[in-house]
Amino acid sequence: MSRREAILAEMGLAPVWRLRKRPAGETKADSGWIPLKAAVSGCTACALHKSRTQTVFGVGDEDADWMLIGEAPGAEEDRLGDPFVGQAGRLLDNMLAAIGLERGRNVYIANVLKCRPPGNRNPEPEEVARCTPHLLRQIELVRPKLIVAMGRFAAQTLLDTDASIASLRGRLHRYAGVPLIVTYHPAYLLRTLPDKAKAWADLVFAKKTMAGL
Ligand code: URA
Repeated sequence: MSRREAILAEMGLAPVWRLRKRPAGETKADSGWIPLKAAVSGCTACALHKSRTQTVFGVGDEDADWMLIGEAPGAEEDRLGDPFVGQAGRLLDNMLAAIGLERGRNVYIANVLKCRPPGNRNPEPEEVARCTPHLLRQIELVRPKLIVAMGRFAAQTLLDTDASIASLRGRLHRYAGVPLIVTYHPAYLLRTLPDKAKAWADLVFAKKTMAGL
């Protein structure tokens, strides 16, 4: 037991930490992940199922404090089955490293869409509407302390708004009570280098926010 855990236990606070996680007695198997993964891999709710190689569910620590949400799988993700494994993913990993985070270690990464839009076009509203319940269930299961919405589709979907990223970033929002911070999508940053500094500021803001939670 770490010193911090010992102090929390001494103060009678350790069970609170446990409660935020999986309820006592509930195993990973019956926590809802298995049915959700099955529902996603067999999903035919929109036409994207016809062109996908496979669904891209999400990756990382299923009990993570941090949840990062992107837009939709690209070609590499469709081929490999994990989110953010292409060029944008490499940038994301570097950005995470810059604030002391690592994919899979207290971090869970998912997308709004679980199937690749052909030619990497933008998601259609109908596709977002059909796929969003999967994402919302993922959030419910992870129970993150903080959500980072990367790009327009994640931010607008979770905040139910059509406001621009520029107008949403820089302040704390909430999705279902969970603090949420908006930043640019890594693929956009690859094309728009000057905005990398703003994304860095967003991540520093996120890190500070997490430290205060
Ligand atoms: N862009 C996304 O939004 N998600 C991915 O998984 C890859 C690129």
